[in-house]
Amino acid sequence: MAYQLFGPDRLLGERPAMFIGGERVDSPQTRPVDNPATGEVFTEVPEATAEHVDQAMRAAETAQREWAGRSLPERAEVLAAVMREIDAHAEELAQIVVAEQGKTITEARGEIVGTRLFFDVAHGNKYAPIGEIFPPNQPGEHLMVREEPYGVVAAITPWNYPAAIFARKVAPAIMAGNAVVLKPSEVTPLAALALARLCQQAGVPDGVVNVVTGEGRVVGKQMCEHPVTQMVTLTGSSRAGQEILRQTAAKVIPVSLELGGKAPVIVFEDADLDAAVERAAEARFWNCGQVCTCNERTYVHASRYDEFASRFVEVAKQVKVADPTREDAQMGPKVSAEEWRKVKDFVDGAEAAGATVVYGGDRPAGAEFAKGYWFSPTVITGVGNEMDIVRQEVFGPVLPIVPFEKYDEVIAWANSTDYGLTAYVFTQNIDIAMRAVDDLQFGEVYVNKIGPEQPQGFHTGWKMSGLGGEDGKYGYQRYLRKKTVYLRYRG
Ligand code: NAD
Repeated sequence: MAYQLFGPDRLLGERPAMFIGGERVDSPQTRPVDNPATGEVFTEVPEATAEHVDQAMRAAETAQREWAGRSLPERAEVLAAVMREIDAHAEELAQIVVAEQGKTITEARGEIVGTRLFFDVAHGNKYAPIGEIFPPNQPGEHLMVREEPYGVVAAITPWNYPAAIFARKVAPAIMAGNAVVLKPSEVTPLAALALARLCQQAGVPDGVVNVVTGEGRVVGKQMCEHPVTQMVTLTGSSRAGQEILRQTAAKVIPVSLELGGKAPVIVFEDADLDAAVERAAEARFWNCGQVCTCNERTYVHASRYDEFASRFVEVAKQVKVADPTREDAQMGPKVSAEEWRKVKDFVDGAEAAGATVVYGGDRPAGAEFAKGYWFSPTVITGVGNEMDIVRQEVFGPVLPIVPFEKYDEVIAWANSTDYGLTAYVFTQNIDIAMRAVDDLQFGEVYVNKIGPEQPQGFHTGWKMSGLGGEDGKYGYQRYLRKKTVYLRYRG
């Protein structure tokens, strides 16, 4: 590993440890962490036991009472200090993300900017109202609906944005007065461990942010079922979302789910093709195709199809796939061997079903790609809307391009999967654009542009893409419950 991730002055210390009640905690069991660019194991992280989960929950429960007793402006001061620490450690955090996740250093620096932004948006609630007063039936009374934190939030995160999704959950949760026990993905546990330490350095009280590491179906399940947990927030697959709903049903607690996506890009006849090709490619290949808002399928009007497809292939050929630590790298490897295999199986399955792989489709040629989880930018044509590659989340740098004739047909195809997170529309005609906004069954629609989403908005999946949502005003409210107070002060 080219980067110096461990050492006495590093956020991770000499080696990774869990972070419980402000203490570094080990476990007799460990799990290897490998570098996706080489496949080499470069460290081990503890595997939490049920006792560790209980310890973290109890530490959070205790710390939360004092934390919730602070005013919003006081909590905001602590979030401001976290932002200063992120600034001071930005490059170190970006390097951790590259090492465990495989995105390019340029993308990882962008992720850390996003990490800070989530704290900034949460900090924006510093002087926000904390409830409402309604007119009571009698004079001399107050009828107040107050906002209060839940208590202890169990937060469970995926591997594709290990730093940013930590912040997306922790920042609003603690700003609202909750304490958090967070479990990062088994594949990318390090950024969360580093960020928990960073929060402590910034003055977040011990126990307000805890990180335990381990298997989702074991450690994550224990977190969901623990008696102290008052809310669960997950970003992950729809499968994990379904399991977590089952795991929390007996406790009847709120669950916020940000799940998978199968975003369509729709290129209408009158679209600006330069912009559509460039943005469709960026939204397919960023983070090696591993973003819930990625362009997973592109529908192009039949009259522009050939031109779009050939230009898209030219852009795909130009993507610089390279060692993610290199400044000029544009795309790194997939995150794991398992993920590589899944993507390869989708491509092979599409070919077997009659599609044509016009570019890529496998590990790129060359000695530097022989190890690790490299996958070429890939373009597939001759695809029908019923094929798995168009219906299921691929989460890799593979684009099926499908021609369409009619507006109604393409809207029906776009709406035809189980997912409803993000959709993209390219047209210069405002009537078509707004009709599509009306008709698309997605929580997020972009017109003539792509993301990333802006955290003052609301990132919310429809259908099997989620339950609830994150960011901005509405995301913040997910971490608050209401208490109605009837107060008589006269007579
Ligand atoms: P995953 O579902 O395999 O794992 C996500 C997290 O859930 C991990 O920490 C895992 O350990 C945990 N987990 C799994 N089963 C669990 C269970 N039964 N109980 C408790 N915890 C459990 O997802 P992944 O492969 O890490 O991430 C990729 C997925 O995340 C994709 O589907 C992607 O679209 C989705 N995602 C969605 C968003 C969004 O905002 N909608 C953002 C990023 C990623």
